[in-house]
Amino acid sequence: MTHAEDDAVEPGAAVVEDLSVPDASAQNGSLAGGRPSLAAWEFAGLFTTYWCNARCAICYVCSGPGCGGEMRVAMAVRLWQELDELAASQGNRMRIHLAGGEPFGDWPRLAAIVRAAHDAGLAPTEKVETNAFWAVNDGLVRSRLELLDAFGMERLVVSTDVYHQEFVPFERVRRCVEIAREVLGPERVRVRWWDFYNEPVDVARLSPNLRRAAQAAALDRHKDRLTGRAASRLSDLLLCRPAEELAGLSCEREVLGSKHVHIDGYGNIFPGVCAGIILGNAATRDVAQVWHDLAALWQEHPVVSAVVAGGSHALMRAATPHGYQPRTEGYAGKCHLCHDVRRFLAARGIWPEHIGPRECYGD
Ligand code: SF4
Ligand code: SF4
Repeated sequence: MTHAEDDAVEPGAAVVEDLSVPDASAQNGSLAGGRPSLAAWEFAGLFTTYWCNARCAICYVCSGPGCGGEMRVAMAVRLWQELDELAASQGNRMRIHLAGGEPFGDWPRLAAIVRAAHDAGLAPTEKVETNAFWAVNDGLVRSRLELLDAFGMERLVVSTDVYHQEFVPFERVRRCVEIAREVLGPERVRVRWWDFYNEPVDVARLSPNLRRAAQAAALDRHKDRLTGRAASRLSDLLLCRPAEELAGLSCEREVLGSKHVHIDGYGNIFPGVCAGIILGNAATRDVAQVWHDLAALWQEHPVVSAVVAGGSHALMRAATPHGYQPRTEGYAGKCHLCHDVRRFLAARGIWPEHIGPRECYGD
């Protein structure tokens, strides 16, 4: 589940790239007194793994069957606790969701994480995201959802669209959604996207040309952000512009101003919509320490400081001394440019503490 929608979506799939309208889940930090500052984090997605049965073109990381990056149960519970404590120390409430990759790919570990958080007295998970590939029979779906419900999961988010249905038979999505609505109640089940769910297309039977046309239509409808695999696979479906036309688009609100972060199994903390930009690492440090260090020192972070100052165009300029050359074909948007530059830097091992892990650039 790796779309990049800020506080709303599944693990994996790409989020709306909005060049003008502030991020709806952001904006409590930046611009205080005119000087950029780090927002308090209030939404955190734990990437329980980068593994996925699918390899969606829209994935905002590059999840797939060959990926790892599993989050250990003990680490998930520690991060959960530290995130709760950080939010409480700032007068807020943390909402944790479980994403990936595909969290249900290792059901015993997903169940163990939710159980352990419950046993530790932590607030229940806000949502778990899935592509429903595992929904092969009614009894299995019902038993898993009943267990998640018993441990307090507030919502299930199911992904379905022209990208996911290349890999997941639609009848599994329908089974998962219908049973989830019975077990949890309709208001606790979200589908991304309902338009596809209500009028599904048999993507597997489409010719390559028709499949691309369907992807182009979906991109036009949902305005997904082109990062991760989406940048590599889908940018040619959109009008591309020279990098110079993307100058001056600050990412302050997405990177510093967002209340939403993701954390992977290696402890890397990313802005909610910018997987692959490592804000800090919580593998051996308390999340609060990472937050406070970033708040004090973000101007020393080569990626954050660049994109806050001038968006991905400024990042491109910072990468030029390392040999980055703009694409002659141009870029479909600021996030496409950003991902292309970061992928170039990651491949050369430049700023490895700030750009990674390979699962975000490995497509
Ligand atoms: S490849 Fe997996 S994690 Fe990525 S968007 Fe598809 S279902 Fe989600
Ligand atoms: S930092 Fe990069 S990925 Fe994030 S919003 Fe800006 S351009 Fe997009």
